[in-house]
This record gives sequence, structure tokens and C-alpha cells, in this order.
Amino acid sequence: MDIHFRTGFGYDVHRYAEGRDLWLGGIRIDHPIGLLGHSDADVLLHALCDALLGAANLRDIGYHFPDTAGEYKNIDSKILLARTMQLIRDKGYELGNADCTVCAEQPKLNPHIPAMQQTMAQVMQVDPDQISIKATTSEKLGFVGRMEGMTAYSSVLLVKK
Ligand code: MG
Repeated sequence: MDIHFRTGFGYDVHRYAEGRDLWLGGIRIDHPIGLLGHSDADVLLHALCDALLGAANLRDIGYHFPDTAGEYKNIDSKILLARTMQLIRDKGYELGNADCTVCAEQPKLNPHIPAMQQTMAQVMQVDPDQISIKATTSEKLGFVGRMEGMTAYSSVLLVKK
């Protein structure tokens, strides 16, 4: 059967860390603390990569870009996103749309969403209207609420070329 549409879902979490820059949605946000990770720890781009890979049945971000590999140490996650888009295009798919949610108590993300949307669309070579980014908090509940880290979720639709 020739399947024209495929959906994918991605989830990621990173803990806050002192002395790290905060990278989110491909942009650096001015904030006293950042996120810990082998790469730049861009939790939003990682969730999006996993959603894209899942939709194309191409395993996950850790499979393609292992955090044990020196070449990915502190890597800009926009490079991982661009490579992920290449993988799904190589398999014959194009992005329909992506809908993402970042869950964090701090900082306030809404002012940064247009810049993230533009940056991500440019990296993915799609129209900004294909990328939705939403921000929410955890109402001070759980590890996100205790400000131990942040989470991101992403849902995508791929269309067969
Ligand atoms: Mg990650």
C-alpha cells in the first residue's frame, strides 16, 4: 500500500544547569541558566527531530546522532535538524506541518516564539506557517514545576513526495 501521509510524535527532556547557554528552537535566549546536554541541549529541536524520524520510521535522534560520539559534543542542534530533514527527504517525504509544545516554568517563552519559528523554518527549508510552537508551564507541579528542567513535545505530519 502506498501511504501518502504519516504522523510522528517526539518527546524530550533536559535538566537546567548553571553556566550553560539556553538554546531553544534554534535561538539563544538570554537567561541566567541553560540546559545540560551532550549537544547544545535544544530540547525543542530534539523533540521535533524525534517526531520527524518517527513519522518516517527512521528510529530516533540517539540512533543517528549518538551522545557518545565526540563529533556531536556541544553541536548546534540546528545541524541535527537539517540532517534529519535530509533523512526524511531521502526517504521520499516532505513536511506537511509540525506542532510543538515547550513546557517550562521559566523563562517566559512567548516573546521568542516568532524568532524560533523563523529560524526553524529556515533550517528545515519550509514555510514558517508549517511550524507551530506553543509554550506552557507545569503549574509548579512535578520536575518541570520544581524548575529542575524543561520538556518538549512535537507532533508532525509528513507527506509522500
Ligand atoms: Mg535531547
